[in-house]
Amino acid sequence: MNDAILVINSGSSSLKFVILAEEGNSITVEGIAEGLGFENGQLSIKFNGQKSTSTLSPSDHKSALMGINEWLEQHADIKSALTGIGHRVVHGGEFFSSSVLINNSIIQTINECTDLAPLHNPAHLKGIDLAQSLFPSLPQVAVFDTAFHQTLTKEQYLYGIPMRLYKEHHVRKYGFHGTSYRYISQKLGEIQPESLHQGVLVAHLGNGASVCAIQNGQSTDTSMGFTPLDGLIMGTRSGSIDPSLIAFIAEKDDLTLSETTNILNKESGLLGISELSNDCRTLEEAMQAGNNQATLALDMFASRAAKQLMSAATTLTTINHLVFTGGIGENSQYIRNKITDYLSAFNIQIDKAKNSTVVKDEASLISNDDQAIQVWVIPTNEEKMIALDTLDLITKKSLN
Ligand code: ADP
Repeated sequence: MNDAILVINSGSSSLKFVILAEEGNSITVEGIAEGLGFENGQLSIKFNGQKSTSTLSPSDHKSALMGINEWLEQHADIKSALTGIGHRVVHGGEFFSSSVLINNSIIQTINECTDLAPLHNPAHLKGIDLAQSLFPSLPQVAVFDTAFHQTLTKEQYLYGIPMRLYKEHHVRKYGFHGTSYRYISQKLGEIQPESLHQGVLVAHLGNGASVCAIQNGQSTDTSMGFTPLDGLIMGTRSGSIDPSLIAFIAEKDDLTLSETTNILNKESGLLGISELSNDCRTLEEAMQAGNNQATLALDMFASRAAKQLMSAATTLTTINHLVFTGGIGENSQYIRNKITDYLSAFNIQIDKAKNSTVVKDEASLISNDDQAIQVWVIPTNEEKMIALDTLDLITKKSLN
């Protein structure tokens, strides 16, 4: 094994990692450290079909990465195959429109974006700093969720509020899930090369959910905004609402602004509507058992997703493809069915039989051959995209 890449997603209370080999195509080992900063943090590592779990003491990011390094010391062949580390970074502000090799000035710039992602960016910087001290000889790369959407025009990324707020506080739409959209655009391009010169709509539907319009391989609009709260109804997030509701709810329930925002981030969406769960699979089971509120939550999710898709489509010259991805997009035939039902006025139709026989982890066409707009289910793979960017930048570095 050679050219293995360690991909790290360092969050505020968890740190996920995976080591990918063979151009990002093969998972060697993967794991997650959870409960960081709380009591009883744990590190779980999956290797060769076996999962091992250990307690972290102290329960912090440093212990997590030291635990991963200890495991690697015991698997010297894997450690010696590592050629680089790729870090997922949520926010690159207006500074980064592509992935970059990390150096001190890049670290400083990621830090400057902390205002825009106060929970995420400090956790990423912690992961980068620790990885640099534990693996000093490995080049490291930052891959930004926001970078793919830096191609949006001012008409799309500005809000209808005083320009001063953009100029002074960088208030604008940034968009997220960019690494997933870039992967999907490239994957569809491999299957249908002409799609790279056409209009593509993608619905990334997971716990967090958004849509993206892609013209000629570039993002032209997306539904998440200044933060990931905007756009679609999600697992626990409200998505777009009338902004006046924030002051109204705060006043009625005697809450602070941050308590009100917390309701919109953590207690809304599928969970808030169904009063049962944020999880699509649980809601589908409840719907089958006759729970009307679960059905309402799922149908509202589908309806808003359809509306957001058509809103983003206004930035395309033609709609040639619609792609479903993410945990819900890849697995829920009910949601795909509902969303495309809502889109029938736009000549988007699927073959119900094909929709019900999608093979897991494979790209599938679920529209009929006579349809002008092709509808796809394509599994996303953000970790592979991060590994490929890392390999690419390392190779360029060694050529210089
Ligand atoms: P995240 O945004 O956390 O990465 P995922 O992309 O993993 O989320 O998606 C998680 C969602 O996918 C959950 O709502 C889960 O219920 C849903 N999901 C996964 N498998 C299925 C399935 N077979 N049927 C319906 N929903 C599914």
